[in-house]
Amino acid sequence: MKKEIRKVLVINSGSSSLKYQLFDMTKGERLAKGLVERIGCGGPKDHTEALKQVVADLGNPKDIDAIGHRVLHGAEVFKDSVKMNVANMAKCKKLVKFGPLHMPANLGGIEACEKIFKGVPNVAVFDTAFHQTMPDCAAMYAIDPKYYKKMGIRKYGFHGTSHKFITQEAAKFLKKPLAKVNLVTCHLGNGSSLAAVKNGQCVDTSMGLTPLAGMVMGTRCGDIDAAAVLSIMEAEKLTPAEADTLLNKKSGLLALTGSSDCRDICAKADKGDKAAELALEMLAYRVAFYIGGYNTVIGGADAIVMTGGIGENSKEVRERIVRRLGALGIKLDKKANNVRGQTAVISTKDSKIPVVIIPTNEELAIAQDTVRVLGKM
Ligand code: ADP
Repeated sequence: MKKEIRKVLVINSGSSSLKYQLFDMTKGERLAKGLVERIGCGGPKDHTEALKQVVADLGNPKDIDAIGHRVLHGAEVFKDSVKMNVANMAKCKKLVKFGPLHMPANLGGIEACEKIFKGVPNVAVFDTAFHQTMPDCAAMYAIDPKYYKKMGIRKYGFHGTSHKFITQEAAKFLKKPLAKVNLVTCHLGNGSSLAAVKNGQCVDTSMGLTPLAGMVMGTRCGDIDAAAVLSIMEAEKLTPAEADTLLNKKSGLLALTGSSDCRDICAKADKGDKAAELALEMLAYRVAFYIGGYNTVIGGADAIVMTGGIGENSKEVRERIVRRLGALGIKLDKKANNVRGQTAVISTKDSKIPVVIIPTNEELAIAQDTVRVLGKM
């Protein structure tokens, strides 16, 4: 008989930090969470040392049944989460080019677990997997196809674990079978992305080859004319790495207002700061613009779902977005919108499409997927 999977450790291993959460999956309950920082820069020397600290923090547990890992990029190789083994690790290592910063850290976390938790199965859960059902018309870029064939240049999308989780939760909330639910899911946080979900499957998403595309984000510009980037690179004599930093780390809300934190920007806008006001309107405009497009793509949404730090907590930003959705017959219930961090309908009863907040929980989603993948084997 198969051993029941009870305790699942979830690892989110970044280049200089390692976040973890421990779940009891028989109750769906979190038992512990923590963070090890400054890996390789003053703290633990590598991910194995960092993990030793996690083991000590957890009091040397001997009863961990499985470990789920957040992995940035599965490209077209991994359309679902997988149990890690030698062959799958070799396949993952070929994908490092798609995330040169994150992938080595993600895979380093898995290798560290293989060493320290001997015999405990590891499952990789990819941020891109949920989006692998996108049709080519949404995923391909209009450039010479040789770049797709040679280099895999296409749209992949990210935050897939979150979009999938809130899709499942929204289907339950709306009392619709997952295979019949049509949604526009909006993950609005420091990084933001939208997904068009038709019959429970992703058919489009706003991030691209990398997480740079789509929304106006904390420090990322989102959609921009590629020629604008070339002009700046030429004028400022930037290398590709410098341009990457400019667009990923020094743009978005930060460049527009001096802060990447939505709370600060809302406070400034309240006081009449014009730059903050414009930044929030740019953010809301782009979200509304994509909601309109995705509603068409899926043939009419059963609900618009909002999640992430901003989606769950910022009534100001939600109001600015919904204000722009009148053409879809969507109306905000201002009183109902006065909520934070909980599942709630924020549209009026006569709104043609309901707008629903569903808090995301990526770590729990990874733990659930770990159980599912190992249960299938
Ligand atoms: P990450 O993408 O790093 O996981 P989060 O999903 O935690 O980020 O989202 C962070 C964003 O959520 C920040 O811009 C923060 O200002 C915003 N946020 C969190 N709480 C609130 C709040 N009460 N009001 C407005 N914005 C909030």
